[in-house]
Amino acid sequence: MSICPWYRYRDGFCTSPSLETPTPDVVNKVVCLGGREVYTRCRYYREVRVIRGEGYEEFGKPFLMVHGLDKPPEIPCEFAKIFKLEQGRYVAGCAILKRFLGVHEVELCESYWERCPYRKLGLKLVAEI
Ligand code: SF4
Ligand code: SF4
Repeated sequence: MSICPWYRYRDGFCTSPSLETPTPDVVNKVVCLGGREVYTRCRYYREVRVIRGEGYEEFGKPFLMVHGLDKPPEIPCEFAKIFKLEQGRYVAGCAILKRFLGVHEVELCESYWERCPYRKLGLKLVAEI
């Protein structure tokens, strides 16, 4: 079950660009954590993936030398969030680790996501909500 890319794990805020400021007030976990079919119908949901200085603060600052990807990675994990940078490159963040993934980590997430211990932890946390 995938999670809305605008949902911020750290504090349960919605960080949708349709809001003036991030807030937990509009969050409904049944919707936000309910899978793409459900969260894309939320009135605050936006498909925006291009980073313009906002929207990825939960992961810290990306460094192109470490995190920059030439094409969007194919990570089936529901906790991976992919962003397109204004420079035309891509970065991937992990909502469980709360940081951007290095290039080699991205390769591991693409191939071995089902075995990832952080994903198992994340699925357990979601199930407890
Ligand atoms: S589903 Fe809606 S309220 Fe929830 S995080 Fe996404 S945009 Fe925000
Ligand atoms: S580190 Fe694990 S939980 Fe995070 S995105 Fe990769 S596979 Fe998913």
